[in-house]
Amino acid sequence: MIVEVVAVGTELLLGQLVNTNAAWLGERLAELGVDCYFQTTVGDNQARIVAALEHALERSDAVVTCGGLGPTQDDITREAVAEVMGVPLIRDPQLLEAVRAAFVYRGRKMPPNNERQADVPRGATAIPQKRGTAPGLICPLRRRGDGSEQVIYVLPGPPGEMKEMFDRAVVPDLLQRAGTRHVIASRTLRTWGIAESTLAERVSPVFDELEKEGAPVTLAFQASGIEGIKIRLTAKAVDVDEAKVVLDAKEAQLRDILGNLIFGIDDETMETAVARLLERANLSIALAESLTGGLAAARIVSVAGASRFFKGSIVCYDTEVKRRLLSVSAPLVVSEEAAKQMAEGVRTVLDADIGLALTGVAGPTPQEDQPPGTVFIGLALPNLPAYAVRLLLPGDRQQVREFAVISALDALRKRLLDT
Ligand code: ATP
Ligand code: MG
Repeated sequence: MIVEVVAVGTELLLGQLVNTNAAWLGERLAELGVDCYFQTTVGDNQARIVAALEHALERSDAVVTCGGLGPTQDDITREAVAEVMGVPLIRDPQLLEAVRAAFVYRGRKMPPNNERQADVPRGATAIPQKRGTAPGLICPLRRRGDGSEQVIYVLPGPPGEMKEMFDRAVVPDLLQRAGTRHVIASRTLRTWGIAESTLAERVSPVFDELEKEGAPVTLAFQASGIEGIKIRLTAKAVDVDEAKVVLDAKEAQLRDILGNLIFGIDDETMETAVARLLERANLSIALAESLTGGLAAARIVSVAGASRFFKGSIVCYDTEVKRRLLSVSAPLVVSEEAAKQMAEGVRTVLDADIGLALTGVAGPTPQEDQPPGTVFIGLALPNLPAYAVRLLLPGDRQQVREFAVISALDALRKRLLDT
């Protein structure tokens, strides 16, 4: 089975938008064991979209398109696909109701333009929307001489909608057409605080074993900047239950090797991991933030239900504020001593079980003779005197601040795991 990707959008050609959809689809197709030899990007022009699709169909069994399903004049993928199929577009009343309902749900009236989103090329099947308004399409084409049938999968451009529809509707259809009777399931283990090369070395025994066994699981690394490195496990199995057994086994093996370097699974973030541990231990937390200016609080508050454990954050940027509100007496405010006093100070002032503090030099200029990137993290745990650690973080001002936040959250996470 050969599949290719056609991404539609003039913004992509102009470099105003990075084609992350194509990258994601390429990765997924590879996991599915489907060959993908071409990816095309084409602007919002019907004749050129038609040409791109026809060219793709000359050399592939299936095409996945993304983008151009919206309500505006330049959203013409639907029309182009109908032209390639040689059929008219027919407005589907049920689909129209679903599009309308999506507007009603948001308390808005559907503009007449959106009616076009209920148009389906004759012979195609709609993929119902779960997130936005534009339904996707599965468009079978005339049979070829050998009796096999080609297909165009039409997906919306917004990445969240595209991914959800691909996994839900395209993958099963594609696997069925490819004649494979297996399911594909994956799980992402999220690690933090280890370099990619070290990680690869540590898990190489698992890799080697997989190769030797010819096991139905593949393993891939994906660096995610300051958010760490993801390890994606993908299993091929006869059904979801068997896939789960296989994934569980490999996850256990990786956990044995990596221990607390794994902070979460799939969509879990560092802050959700911390939140889970705080709730489990029934502990509340307060923050004192200098160089991060509230970034740590913003991450914590992004977790639904944060009010159950988060007291608040004092953004104590100015030295006087540190002294007056948090009773910091250390002569230097970028120091281990100051970080400890901030953590204890905020724990007391905001009446929390835990105080977490951040002070440092975001840059670009040094401060108190400390180079940019110097960060002290202070942690005051229940009924214990505070301690602090010094870090030297790379990057520009913004990167240092973001790195400082995730480092602090990870330090707290590891301590909570130990207690
Ligand atoms: P809408 O209903 O939002 O108009 P659409 O299906 O018409 O959806 P486009 O108009 O092509 O899709 O793109 C909508 C948005 O989706 C873009 O502004 C962009 O944010 C995102 N997007 C589209 N194509 C891609 C792509 N190839 N890679 C990453 N993001 C994309
Ligand atoms: Mg659009």
